[in-house]
Amino acid sequence: MALIVQKYGGSSVEDTESLQRVAKRVAQTHKAGHQVVVVVSAMGDTTDDLLDMASSITPEAPKRELDILLSAGERISMALLAMAINEQNVPAMAYTGAQAGIRTDTRYGKASIVGMVPERVVRAINDGHVAIVAGFQGVNEYDDVTTLGRGGSDTTAVALASALHADVCEIYTDVDGLFTADPRIVPTARRVRTLDFEETLELAASGAKILHLRAVEFARRYHVPLHVRSSFSDLDGTWISHKPADASLRGIAPKEAFRSKEDNVEAPIISGIAHDRSQDKITLVGLPDEPGFAARVFEVLGEAEVNIDMIVQNVAVVHPGRSNITFTLPDADAAPAMKALQARADYLQYQEVVHNPAIGKLSLIGAGMKTSPGISAKFFSALYNAGINVDMISTSEVRISVVIHEDDLDDAVRAVHKAFDLDSDETEAVVYGGTGR
Ligand code: ASP
Ligand code: MG
Repeated sequence: MALIVQKYGGSSVEDTESLQRVAKRVAQTHKAGHQVVVVVSAMGDTTDDLLDMASSITPEAPKRELDILLSAGERISMALLAMAINEQNVPAMAYTGAQAGIRTDTRYGKASIVGMVPERVVRAINDGHVAIVAGFQGVNEYDDVTTLGRGGSDTTAVALASALHADVCEIYTDVDGLFTADPRIVPTARRVRTLDFEETLELAASGAKILHLRAVEFARRYHVPLHVRSSFSDLDGTWISHKPADASLRGIAPKEAFRSKEDNVEAPIISGIAHDRSQDKITLVGLPDEPGFAARVFEVLGEAEVNIDMIVQNVAVVHPGRSNITFTLPDADAAPAMKALQARADYLQYQEVVHNPAIGKLSLIGAGMKTSPGISAKFFSALYNAGINVDMISTSEVRISVVIHEDDLDDAVRAVHKAFDLDSDETEAVVYGGTGR
């Protein structure tokens, strides 16, 4: 008997029919003799629909009320799922985040979990029930509901799996695991059988939407093995754990090296290509080229609580003594960043500040990038051959990222995927559902 936490994303519970399909899977696991805790997201695009309704009333909804609104989506799906499981003759009880003992800090809309006291969940599973927990929400010290940020149900699931010492945390989605690129863009993408946490973190941080970054960080820190798979098929998905050595101790298949077909053992191991459409770019033109101005820029942005990703600075050739700084950031942070930079124009002494929302980021992720100079050559010539202009570049030990025009992103993903010989011989990538919204 194992204790299994299963998380079902919005596209797996789009309507009541899909809820019934999920209920069957949960009931099967329970009837096989396992203890099951289910974390469920809001149905389909409910969260986006709720946000749209709020913004039709006000451009800036009070954060506390917005969390009350958004948490309603998961309440609907958890209650309906409990009913559907009961219909399968398996007793099930639904719990809100608060009832499941998920304690958070007070940052509405992006709360962090500060404590887990899932007593009622423990009691329910010990009594032979399936416990259903609403994803993406908790309760703060004022007894207010808080949400964990978009995609936060993954984090709920991993936090519960860790607190309950579950054997595995299964993340159910609308594709059969993690692929070498988004199968919506590259239908010939290959399924990646096993990944370690570091690679998965890079993929998630670079925009691969299949797993919430915070959930992966949490799973790595607390050693929660993850199994990403489809709720629409019975295929084995992607196993994510620590390095192969301890994965094999858990009976997880040994790491299958994902090398390019030349089969050279020193060839870098590509884990995949991630893309991100959700970033924007801001350029400060004509900053004084003197020590201290970069510090001022990032001090102002830090005070505005803006998250910065890629940064490039270069000295302006046409205006001696001046330099430009360009950085990328989540599009939701662009308005507050522009506001802060404009408010401190005197302090920063730039000549102009420009905001460009139409950018996309592409990242190639894999071990041994830095030590394989051929990789960059292949990467950039793939983009060149596809006629794609590169705007910004950043690299690390395990990643090369470029910023390009948003309209070029899909072509770029396909070109790089092909150049690195990642295409699968058979069609593996089936997209079962979801609007990809
Ligand atoms: N329903 C929430 C969202 O769409 C949380 C989640 O699905 O993980 O962001
Ligand atoms: Mg954008």
